[in-house]
Amino acid sequence: MSSRRDAPRWVVYSCGKTNEHLPGMNMSSNAMRIPSVDALLRDESAAPLIDTYGRRAVTDAIREDLTMLRTGAGGFDSDSISILGRVEGLLEDSAAPSLKRVFNLTGTVIHTNLGRAPLPEVAADAMHEAAMGAVNLEYDLDKGRRGDRDAHLEDLICELTGAEAATVVNNNAAAVLLTLSALARRREVPVSRGELIEIGGSFRMPDIMKSAGVKLVEVGTTNRTHAKDYEGAMSARTAMIMKVHMANYRIEGFTAEVEEKTLADIAHRHGVPFVVDLGSGTLTDFERLGLPHEPTPMQALATGADIVTFSGDKLLGGPQAGIICGRKDLVAKIRKNPMKRALRLGKVSIAGLSAVLSLYRDPDRLEQRLPVLRLLTRDAVEIEAQARRLMRPVLDALGGAFSVQVVACQSQVGSGALPVEQLPSWGLALTPSSGGRGKVLDRLAAKLRGLPKPVIGRIADGALLLDLRCLAPGDEQEFVEQLLSGDKGET
Ligand SMILES: *Cc1c(COP(=O)(O)O)cnc(C)c1O
Repeated sequence: MSSRRDAPRWVVYSCGKTNEHLPGMNMSSNAMRIPSVDALLRDESAAPLIDTYGRRAVTDAIREDLTMLRTGAGGFDSDSISILGRVEGLLEDSAAPSLKRVFNLTGTVIHTNLGRAPLPEVAADAMHEAAMGAVNLEYDLDKGRRGDRDAHLEDLICELTGAEAATVVNNNAAAVLLTLSALARRREVPVSRGELIEIGGSFRMPDIMKSAGVKLVEVGTTNRTHAKDYEGAMSARTAMIMKVHMANYRIEGFTAEVEEKTLADIAHRHGVPFVVDLGSGTLTDFERLGLPHEPTPMQALATGADIVTFSGDKLLGGPQAGIICGRKDLVAKIRKNPMKRALRLGKVSIAGLSAVLSLYRDPDRLEQRLPVLRLLTRDAVEIEAQARRLMRPVLDALGGAFSVQVVACQSQVGSGALPVEQLPSWGLALTPSSGGRGKVLDRLAAKLRGLPKPVIGRIADGALLLDLRCLAPGDEQEFVEQLLSGDKGET
């Protein structure tokens, strides 16, 4: 009996958990030599750390390191210099923001997971300016009284789309939700079965309709929907006809969809609005830029749409936002809906969106001034030359463990826009010099993701492919320098 009772006590002491409560019981000779927290804080090399990170954070980090030393993880030096060196590392790690710039070499230009459209400098400047102080966000400077935040964007959107009125929310999903909620709550909305899509991040059209309190009436079939299907679905409970732009997939073969003009006519004959969710809305003629055709809000409105919604950060090339424009009475109703308050756009985004929309006033220089268009229209010959320039330094950085080839590849627009079309591009294919491909490539990809400015490529056909379409020539040097300063080889 007694030996059994003794055993657990011995275990408790030896694991050191009770160190601080039982002074002297468990001090190894190593622990005796560990400097105190106070002594470390007074050490001259602690001063710059306290300056940068604050006393509280330095104290916590020292405690963390001392705990590690005392619990004897082993192999660590317990002199002040070593401790404070590790403490600096801890502080650096915990102070680094989680959100950081990366190199998008995935080949997908508008990559939702990588933050979509890069903004032009004029927009970034405007956002910085708005962020730094008070602005007349909802203040009418002429009248000296409360104003409306939409006022900063409405005229510009109307000018560029031909709409009578416009309002803006946090993203296009919010624009759809708000439009449905304001115009169709507790009523029915017919939508083609071919348009009941899921957009990335599990945003499903049927679910959004349910959350808006709208009864979805499915019409037609997945591949074919006819005007008579819509006609048959119209009733006294119908609130609107809604068309969802086929954003992220395409049905090919034996298909039929009803023209927007016809849908608008059916809706108007039944006295209800025709609403179009365009998804990606560009405000410029894509064919003129040598890109595949993309429908625009002005075309949709001219064809008879009463309300059009689209994203701010897809093809438009601006910050995250959702734009709703169209008939004045309907926009007024949407703006008055209480949900608008919950979905409204912040001042920083309004400033950025306003700057981007202003660029559309000069369509001739748009593709030079708007990064998203600059990337989409980048000449394949130029990208190839860049790939040839970068081949050697990348090969040097990888230290012989990989072969590097200049390869032709295909970029995508991304974010559901123009799903089938691909853009001819060039990249570097990194292939392991010896076997073990899968794991070796995964490790290389992880290593590139671990760089100070992470490099994100894609693994395809036994190689790690870095599509260079989105590597701006001005960022090339930074890209190469951080690769070369990393340690070589052992991937
Ligand atoms: C992308 C998209 C949305 C959602 O827009 P967000 O700006 O991502 O919220 C809605 N509808 C369609 C058709 C889309 O393509």
